[in-house]
Amino acid sequence: MYLGVAELIRAGRFDICYSQCTFDPRKMIYRSSYNGRRMNLFKVLLSSDCKFDCSYCQNAWRKGVTISPEELANIFKSMKEKGIVSGAFISSAVNADPDRVMERILETGRLIRRFHAGYLHLKIIPGCSKDYIKEAVEIANRVSINLETTSESRMNEISGVKSFKEDILRKQRMIAKCVDRKRKEGYRRSHTTQIIAGLGETDEEILDLMNKEYEEFGIARFYISRFQPLKFTPFENRKAGNQKRIVNLYRMDSLLRMYNYPISLLKEVMVDGFLPCLPSADPKVLIAEMLIDENRSVNCTNSCTKQSADSNFNFQLPPEMIPGCGRKISQLLREGKSLAQIKRMGYSVKRISAYLKGQKRIYEF
Ligand code: SF4
Repeated sequence: MYLGVAELIRAGRFDICYSQCTFDPRKMIYRSSYNGRRMNLFKVLLSSDCKFDCSYCQNAWRKGVTISPEELANIFKSMKEKGIVSGAFISSAVNADPDRVMERILETGRLIRRFHAGYLHLKIIPGCSKDYIKEAVEIANRVSINLETTSESRMNEISGVKSFKEDILRKQRMIAKCVDRKRKEGYRRSHTTQIIAGLGETDEEILDLMNKEYEEFGIARFYISRFQPLKFTPFENRKAGNQKRIVNLYRMDSLLRMYNYPISLLKEVMVDGFLPCLPSADPKVLIAEMLIDENRSVNCTNSCTKQSADSNFNFQLPPEMIPGCGRKISQLLREGKSLAQIKRMGYSVKRISAYLKGQKRIYEF
């Protein structure tokens, strides 16, 4: 693999979320997952030369490398044939007009589809035209456009070129429509987005945007990258983002995405727009203890409204909101299974037992 390609593969690591995707620098591949299955990914840029001016990104501030769609497709083909990777994620810096860059991304996608029916993810370039979005959704299993930050005013602080509303949110609306249409035709399609945490925004801003993205655009995942100050960029002397903060934001993400918690409840454990930033301060525990202390009961919407008539337990919290309860254990509790039965099935019930009404905290059940 020649040096330029290695640089284009390495450049992809600034766009990863670390909760689901990690970079293996020895094999030059990314390990990720799709639909619950682990996968080795060929994640690469077509160009690392950018005409835009994002203050945190090296691609804008030093000369990059560019490769042709044919070369990229051939490298993926050879890696796939050797069994090194099983999926591809094609992105690019904006080294030309956004439509021209999208044409190159689509051309790579078309070439890849000649020999690869598996996972293909294509990046949508901010500001590109609708027809390119439509075709990307035709070709790829998944498409994404990066939000990068939380609002127009924050975008103005990091880029003098990109418009948050016009170039990104408007394109996301188009993506959502195209994905929806393909799904109705019976195809498996999804779209995701990503932001950088640590550019001055609050947790509350991130969660409000995350909630809007799930509700309005039906995105599959909202990825969060920690800000890292990079040499040769205007932000090189800024403080790096806090990793513990990212962990807590992902915990909030799963409460919204998987358990339908109302956003208002998540905000109740914030102080001045931020979650308590301690590794031990799991927001699910904080929310449960707050509700129990205040003797409040709550429904976390549709999935939590049914309660089994013959349940052995009297829940103050819906099972999904009990710390230690994943979706599987919540289902078993709703079916009326006892903690002892659930434990015999191989699940840990130590944490759950602490939150059942009328019971003391039991560390060894
Ligand atoms: S658009 Fe911004 S973030 Fe993307 S490659 Fe260019 S400078 Fe970097």
